[in-house]
Amino acid sequence: MPIGLYIHFPFCKSKCPYCDFYSLCGKNDLIDRYCDAVIDRLKAFSDIRFDTVYFGGGTPSVIGADKLSKIAEHITSDNPDITEFTVECNPSSITDGFFDILREAGVNRISMGMQSAVDRERKKLGRSASSDTVYNHIQGAKRAGIDNISLDLMLGIPYQTLDTLKTSVEFCSQVGASHISAYLLKIEEGTPFYSKKDTLALPDEDYCCDLYLEAVSQLKKHGFLQYEISNFAKDNRVSHHNLKYWNCDEYIGIGPSAHSFFNGKRFFCDRDINAFLNGASPVDDGDGGDFAEYAMLRLRLCEGITEVGTYERFSHSIPTIMYENAKHIPKNLICVKNDGISLTCEGFLLSNQIIGELLNNV
Ligand code: SF4
Repeated sequence: MPIGLYIHFPFCKSKCPYCDFYSLCGKNDLIDRYCDAVIDRLKAFSDIRFDTVYFGGGTPSVIGADKLSKIAEHITSDNPDITEFTVECNPSSITDGFFDILREAGVNRISMGMQSAVDRERKKLGRSASSDTVYNHIQGAKRAGIDNISLDLMLGIPYQTLDTLKTSVEFCSQVGASHISAYLLKIEEGTPFYSKKDTLALPDEDYCCDLYLEAVSQLKKHGFLQYEISNFAKDNRVSHHNLKYWNCDEYIGIGPSAHSFFNGKRFFCDRDINAFLNGASPVDDGDGGDFAEYAMLRLRLCEGITEVGTYERFSHSIPTIMYENAKHIPKNLICVKNDGISLTCEGFLLSNQIIGELLNNV
């Protein structure tokens, strides 16, 4: 069975004040060595077939189209069956001809870090490109023949209101996006946002819940149907690569901070570019893929955990204890049927707690 391939590009033009991803600024002198190291690392997996590829970061577009396409061609030449090849882009680092070169190299999906179509909100997040720039780049991608376009939306941005959220969703629809990832802003320790969190004018928790439910409703109105806690697709153009994570399927991750799940084992690369460049081995992260882990990931999906899927994978039914646990959870938060269990939209707001309760004593 072909599996997923993720490659992490840990370079950014500047650091967004909320970001705790592994990404470096002012280290562009390492880019050439990094690309060589990625190609070298790929050789170790030459007997594995990939059908989805995702270049994430950091900001892959900072690397430049020529270097990205060199790596992409290395992958596609060994893997003729790739169905989905995504590259994350930041609107402020896209140069002329960028999308044409990527399309030529086999890329067929773009994920654009827009966060908001309201320039004031984008500025607060440290994003310099205007919504006009985002619009123009999306048209450029389409002209190059890449029409599967995902946009990131952030919820809970300082000063965000239900109205400005509506503006962002309308923009996504007008510009012809096929997929939306809508994430609640998380204030991570160690980030600039964390140190000034009390003065940021952040919406409170209740308002963030309202923003999430409004996003689900507005996106639905524009034809983006929810299929995962934070992900929405038009015309069923779901992210097949990310579905591998939520289906507990296998994938290889290359680059500092990238995680892998292969042959029942989880492992990851340290958050250290020098260790990666010097050929450090991945760190063992234990066994993966047991029923509890599978259920935990599947319950992020609107489809939830099903009897058919569980039987196919583990040759047993969903444990009775899960149905027993479900009886103690309010009915508006979960949906229990003969063929499985799923969380409702309101339930997704409390997903960690509910999934923990459902899996109690499993
Ligand atoms: S562009 Fe993305 S990875 Fe880079 S600093 Fe901003 S949020 Fe982090």
